[in-house]
Amino acid sequence: MYVGKKHTAVRSAEVERTFTCKGCGYASPVRVVGIGEGTGQSPYFLDGDGARRRADDEAGTRALEDAEVVLAIVPCPKCDQRDPEAARAFKTKGLLATVGLLAFGCAIGAVLAVLMSHRSGSMGLVFGVGTGVLSAGAGIYVDRTKRRATWDGAILRVTFLREGDGG
Ligand SMILES: [Zn+2]
Repeated sequence: MYVGKKHTAVRSAEVERTFTCKGCGYASPVRVVGIGEGTGQSPYFLDGDGARRRADDEAGTRALEDAEVVLAIVPCPKCDQRDPEAARAFKTKGLLATVGLLAFGCAIGAVLAVLMSHRSGSMGLVFGVGTGVLSAGAGIYVDRTKRRATWDGAILRVTFLREGDGG
């Protein structure tokens, strides 16, 4: 059992970039908001300040990375197209994360099944596999929900600063 405290932090970051649509060529300076989460451990409740700082740093770094992802997949305000390459990369990453979480869940399930079946036979097997499937399912659900929020909400996190667009 882990003795200590896990600190979590959520931070947002704002970056200024230039958006250029590969479809119609529309270009505009933009302000992009990224959101990141970070965690830091303080084992045995020591170094709480350090853990908080690590959580904060990680959240800040992830927020900046998130802003770049959002900028890459935001639909063009002019023609409503997303960069097909960035969109594909985003979806591939999501798929890989799902496969990874599934593999992780299978590994947990297999280990628990072996451990538990030694003690309590087939019930242990069911429990072990069930735990693996549940943890994978929960992880995949959370991951996919976050990715969908980024995909659908990208447009809300980008402010197009180009002036004089009669449209
Ligand atoms: Zn466009």
